[in-house]
Amino acid sequence: MKNQGSDQISQDCFHEDPITENQRLKSLLLCMRCKSNDANVLFLPCAHHRMCTDCARGISKCPVCQQTIQTSVQTVLT
Ligand SMILES: [Zn+2]
Ligand SMILES: [Zn+2]
Repeated sequence: MKNQGSDQISQDCFHEDPITENQRLKSLLLCMRCKSNDANVLFLPCAHHRMCTDCARGISKCPVCQQTIQTSVQTVLT
């Protein structure tokens, strides 16, 4: 039995479902470190999005999963 493609639920923390991620962003808009700025940096490859540019600037590991950050991408929330 295969799961239906439209009902795919990813349990893999390295690949987050876009819908789940969107819901998470709505409730986790604030940076997890300073809790005052909006979280607007996406860490790759782990794809966590929990910190603001100010707090992300000096760190080399994701504070959520402790993975080494290879790239951080600034996101723009509209
Ligand atoms: Zn911050
Ligand atoms: Zn992470």
